[in-house]
Amino acid sequence: MLASIRWRITVPYAVIILLTTLGLSLYISGQVRQARHADLQTCLLGEARIMASALDFESLPSEAGALDAQARQWAELLGQRVTLIGKDGTVLGESDFDSATMDHHLYRQEVQQAAASGEGVAVRFSRTLEQELMYAAVAVRAEGDVAGYARVAVSLAQIEATVSRLSRTILGAGTLTALLSIFLASFIASRTVRPVRELTAAAERLASGDLNIHLLPTTRDEVGLLTRAFNHMAEALRAQVTTLARERSRLEAVLNNMADGALITDVHGEVVLVNPAAARILRIDAAQALGCTFAQAVHDHQLIELWSACRAHQQEQVATVEAGPRGSFLHAIVTPLSEDDALRVLVILQDLTRVRRLETVRRDFISNVSHELRTPLASLSLVVETLQDGAIEDPAAAHRFLAHMENELAGLIQLVEELLELSRIESGRVPLDIAPTKISKLVKKPLKRLRPLAERKDLTLVRALPAPAPLVLADSKRIQQVVGNLIHNAIKFTPAGGRITVSAAIHADEVVLAIADTGIGIPAEDVPRIFERFYKADRARAEQGTGLGLAIAKHLVQTHGGRIWAESVEGQGSTFFFSLPRSP
Ligand code: ADP
Repeated sequence: MLASIRWRITVPYAVIILLTTLGLSLYISGQVRQARHADLQTCLLGEARIMASALDFESLPSEAGALDAQARQWAELLGQRVTLIGKDGTVLGESDFDSATMDHHLYRQEVQQAAASGEGVAVRFSRTLEQELMYAAVAVRAEGDVAGYARVAVSLAQIEATVSRLSRTILGAGTLTALLSIFLASFIASRTVRPVRELTAAAERLASGDLNIHLLPTTRDEVGLLTRAFNHMAEALRAQVTTLARERSRLEAVLNNMADGALITDVHGEVVLVNPAAARILRIDAAQALGCTFAQAVHDHQLIELWSACRAHQQEQVATVEAGPRGSFLHAIVTPLSEDDALRVLVILQDLTRVRRLETVRRDFISNVSHELRTPLASLSLVVETLQDGAIEDPAAAHRFLAHMENELAGLIQLVEELLELSRIESGRVPLDIAPTKISKLVKKPLKRLRPLAERKDLTLVRALPAPAPLVLADSKRIQQVVGNLIHNAIKFTPAGGRITVSAAIHADEVVLAIADTGIGIPAEDVPRIFERFYKADRARAEQGTGLGLAIAKHLVQTHGGRIWAESVEGQGSTFFFSLPRSP
């Protein structure tokens, strides 16, 4: 309880007031008692003196109790107890008791003083009356000698009663004052403390993250100043936190969206930051990696070595490593975060796998193009040589050679045209004229065009489209080109007597067209690759064709938002599928 300011202020005041009151009451009652005693003493002595001067001891008898009547008379007059004592201490007269039963009084203190100096006063507990009494004795003189003593006594009970009444009054007033002061002090303290309590609550809310705090200063005193200072602090904090949060979210956006992986380890070597790209490149779970050591999180010994070297030498380490289960190529830059804080390390990972693959694709492309060009060019140069060597003189042979040259040139022209076409489609330079189109329209023209070729090879061409034909979103010319290409391939790779079927399956949001043949089929390992440029399944290598047809078909279908794939069993036939979105 005393921990609260309110009680710390209230209790000492109450104690001080109570102690002061107690002291005051003691002091005042002492003073009053003393003054009353002095007054009483003077008064009693005066009375005893009057009595002494009025008494004539010489003419009085000297046996005990002889003066009782006189003593009672005096006592009645004075309103006090009166004792008349003989020279030898015998009680001659006593107002309140039986003098016969009273003992010798010469050695009473006041009597002794009166014997010595004429007057004596004493305060004593009277066993006879069983209370505190004040006695005043005056010696009665007869011709210069002490003849006896006149003694007046009065009870002090009254004085004590007055004094204790006074003390009680003072103490009562003191207690009341103390209670009032407790009440007042506690009221003032609680008023003073209330804004401090509010401040405390506000500070706690601030600490728990509620930054929108503004207190209204209710006083102009120190607490009011404190409230204002608190408001300033909260405002400054709010501004700082907002700035930090904004910067943090910017940084987070950069980290989350950058293509390079970023990873930071702290002084203990534990991972404190992993961005999504790093998690993707390293194939780890970002949340799980946090708090793990770098080695636990990354699992790749080359990267761990780089990181350790950076920590050991406090120098940037750069290397290209082949990491991960997919054999990704990574360009890793491991940097100490700052000069004086070198134990924190930033790891930046650039995934070069795609770049590498593109390089390979480009190399393969060039070698494929050269290969495709070399054979017809070599053949052409051989024919030209043969003609120069004299074959030109033989008209029949010359005609045969020219026909051969024409054939090779046609192949070359087709290759160049298909290459141009592919590059145009790939770079998006072929504008599509997409419109809701019946699928029957898409297959009609190519079937009509290729039917004579199929018939020449003794193949059956079957059209099995559902009726009514659904509408798809397509550029009809381009899709006709795809269908034509697929039927042409089927004709090319199906031996005489075979059958080619064009059908369609309708799904909720797409239509899947299928061109199935009963031809030579494609080896299972080649199926996933036949849509690559220049790819020809081995057995077909000798056949005519550039290997670009399916690549062009794939790009065209994909630009329509569709998919293309093939299923094949070697020796039994192949089916090529492609999907087109349905027209709503
Ligand atoms: P090409 O112009 O040489 O036919 P494509 O890209 O159209 O090139 O075909 C690539 C390869 O896919 C062909 O060389 C062939 O090996 C294989 N292929 C395509 N269609 C079929 C099919 N219907 N049956 C068997 N193999 C096929």
